[in-house]
Amino acid sequence: MTIQNAIENYFKFTGAKSFNLTTALVDMDGVLYDSMKNHTRAWVKLMKKNGIKCTRDEFYLYEGMTGSDIIKMKFKNGAGKNITDDEAAALYKVKSRYFSELGEPELIQGTLSLLQALKQAGVQCVLVTGSGQQSIFDRIDNDYPEIFAARITSADIKRGKPNPEPYLKGMAAGGARGNECLVIENAPLGVQAGHAAGCFTVGVTTGPITEKELYKAGADLVFKSMDDFTASLPELLTILKP
Ligand code: CA
Repeated sequence: MTIQNAIENYFKFTGAKSFNLTTALVDMDGVLYDSMKNHTRAWVKLMKKNGIKCTRDEFYLYEGMTGSDIIKMKFKNGAGKNITDDEAAALYKVKSRYFSELGEPELIQGTLSLLQALKQAGVQCVLVTGSGQQSIFDRIDNDYPEIFAARITSADIKRGKPNPEPYLKGMAAGGARGNECLVIENAPLGVQAGHAAGCFTVGVTTGPITEKELYKAGADLVFKSMDDFTASLPELLTILKP
């Protein structure tokens, strides 16, 4: 996919006639942090302790959903149990503790440089995540200093990805419309959400999910790494920020 083809497809899908990039809406797990390995481990531990069958791989597919939605879905499908909001919140607290106990996840290679380059080009960055993992939120300003103008997290949304709500909230926080926003994602449900919100949605393969799966979910463009993304940024900006 060339950048020119990608923007033509975007115009066809959204009906927009122009693009004027002002805002990057940036996912957290798998984009800022190499955290999915620990999330999937923590999820399996929580499910096993509660007698719910699962595999580690399946949790990569749920990436982007809120913790509460994952818990409700797994308990319903795995044990026929309807979990209340309060029960889901309590179970999510346990999962968050398991996650914290696994140590601090590494940063995704190249994301900081990419976001700094975007900021230098006059593009504001807004964090958009379905996560409620406080131990990561506490690190962001230190690991990504002066990058984010606003944050949308699980506390701000009713419906997680693939629903477009998190990205629509991110657009509102940035005072931007779809044809002013670039979404940066690594997972199919997140790509679906960005695409449905009418944003130009870029997928980056930072884990086991393939390029093909991200295009299938609706990505306008997919890069193999953050460094590849940064290398193409000047060309992308001539098209998205004329
Ligand atoms: Ca993600």
